[in-house]
Amino acid sequence: MQFIDLKTQQQRIREEIDRRMAAVLDHGHYIMGPEVFELEAKLAQYVGVKHAVSCASGTDALLMALMAAGVGPGDAVFTTPFSFFATAEVVSMVGATPVFVDIDPQTYNLDPEALEAAASAFSGRSGYPPFLRDQSHGELTPKAVIAVDLFGLPAEYDRIKRIAQKYGLAVIEDAAQSFGALYRGRKAGSLADVACTSFYPAKPLGAYGDGGMCFTNDDVTANLLKSIRIHGMGCDQYDNVRIGINGRLDTLQAAILLAKFDIFPAEIKMRGKAAATYSRLLAGCSGVQLPLVKREFESVWAQYSLLAESQTHREVTRQRLSAAGIPTVIYYPKPLHLQAAFGDLGYRAGDFPVSEDCAARIFSLPMHPYLSLAEQEKVADLVNCET
Ligand SMILES: *Cc1c(COP(=O)(O)O)cnc(C)c1O
Repeated sequence: MQFIDLKTQQQRIREEIDRRMAAVLDHGHYIMGPEVFELEAKLAQYVGVKHAVSCASGTDALLMALMAAGVGPGDAVFTTPFSFFATAEVVSMVGATPVFVDIDPQTYNLDPEALEAAASAFSGRSGYPPFLRDQSHGELTPKAVIAVDLFGLPAEYDRIKRIAQKYGLAVIEDAAQSFGALYRGRKAGSLADVACTSFYPAKPLGAYGDGGMCFTNDDVTANLLKSIRIHGMGCDQYDNVRIGINGRLDTLQAAILLAKFDIFPAEIKMRGKAAATYSRLLAGCSGVQLPLVKREFESVWAQYSLLAESQTHREVTRQRLSAAGIPTVIYYPKPLHLQAAFGDLGYRAGDFPVSEDCAARIFSLPMHPYLSLAEQEKVADLVNCET
């Protein structure tokens, strides 16, 4: 069994992929070709925002969003420690300081109450939120919050935005895993000042290489993103008005994404069905916590993740599945505040107990649109076994 089946998907659309790639080879505009702009227009419409700015990866999308927001040295950016490294890495890349806040134990997304507590600590004369022990960066100014839609489930944007407004923070949506998801009838990618997604092959909408996209309704931000994407360009490529990056999306990747986007809405339905099947098959299983999707939320099921009773229970269960040829993956085994790369921030084990506990017990089952009922029954039977 495969964790993510990209082969079956390719068989469905191979002709269209071949046709789209051949068109690029024929016109030869490998950089910023017409497919790049066609994809941007289609995805902006799909998400329901005014501007889509494609780029080279989800990481670049986040980096560009921070650069466009003017975040830099001396600024604090709130985010979750239970995410992929890139979410906080980009904060350090622009010279700002990540300030972690813990997650909700049921959705695994940023806890709005923890955000409020951390943001208010800056305005009190304590000066710093709890656990940010290294103050060698000097006085920090809270500037932004990056919320992550983990496993495909949007974060609580209405609550987060209310807090952000109170403390003057820009809100960035890390929608790398949630492209296609919904929150109160609005699409992921439209839920913050700027949203960033990834087209890494394993994401719900994946290319055959790296790619990413920023979404925004703000004209000024969109123009900044377009400039930053191409070395801070002004009126043309050789007029440079600010420091930027080489962050363009390849035309060939855009062509592949256009072919994949044709079947994306249908694939989302299949993902939803597969997730519902897992939840039904595992409903009686007392040893694991199933994913919780609250009312008004629709996950795109980038992952179907379970919380085992303990780290030992997780290992025993994963080994039983592995012995039967069923792959599982741990997203994420080490919370970001405990990563060596952030060692100089001075965080310690115990600072974010919910994130640490989830990191010790979480694991993800095979998830893709082409799972068969027989495969899912086999997985569920093995998860259900007494340990
Ligand atoms: C995948 C991912 C990223 C980074 O995207 P890339 O395209 O791999 O650079 C950022 N944040 C989250 C939550 C991700 O899952």
